[in-house]
Amino acid sequence: MRILLVEDDLSLAAGLKDALSREGFVVNHVANGRLALAAVRAEVPDILVLDLGLPDMDGLQVLAKVRQRDEHIPVMVLTARSGLDDKIAGLDSGADDYLAKPFSVEELAARLRVFERRLSTAVTSIVAIGEVELDTAAHSVQVLGELVELPRREYMLLKILMESAGKVLTRESLDARLYSWGEEVASNALEVHIHHLRKKMPDKLIKTVRGIGYTVAQQ
Ligand code: CA
Repeated sequence: MRILLVEDDLSLAAGLKDALSREGFVVNHVANGRLALAAVRAEVPDILVLDLGLPDMDGLQVLAKVRQRDEHIPVMVLTARSGLDDKIAGLDSGADDYLAKPFSVEELAARLRVFERRLSTAVTSIVAIGEVELDTAAHSVQVLGELVELPRREYMLLKILMESAGKVLTRESLDARLYSWGEEVASNALEVHIHHLRKKMPDKLIKTVRGIGYTVAQQ
């Protein structure tokens, strides 16, 4: 899940980015409304987390502009303003959910997971392909009923591939879903993760599509 975080409080943003990354989200951050709109134009994120009090424009204006372009992107509004009026204004102008500051990161992560579940077409949290069963709620992977411990990026990579089973994913799209902007990534990082995953997964689960990317066959 790629999250665009729009928040001008830089220490809060850094904390959220850290915590949500540990939860398996890829978080890109901008600190004002103008950059937020440019970022959404460049690449629509899976989820928008939007602070209402921004230095250059009101967050609700940002939201209205985003909604003009993309109806469906789930939006979580953050606001320091208290009171029901803001909540109603936020939801009326097209936010899907609302958190008043201060809030706990756990609470934010839990609500974002609700968005994630709504976005995924799967009815359950289990994605099963052949001998491999991935539980997106428990963040766990089993092969033939045995738990397999995976580092975070390998888990994310396997999840992306299994959820898109039957489709070929390009290296570029996998990189964009695994790493946030500006993150230092070795050029062969993806290949290294694939190499490690293959050693832990059944033979031939992950196929290379030469010159393009990778795929997991639908079963
Ligand atoms: Ca603010």
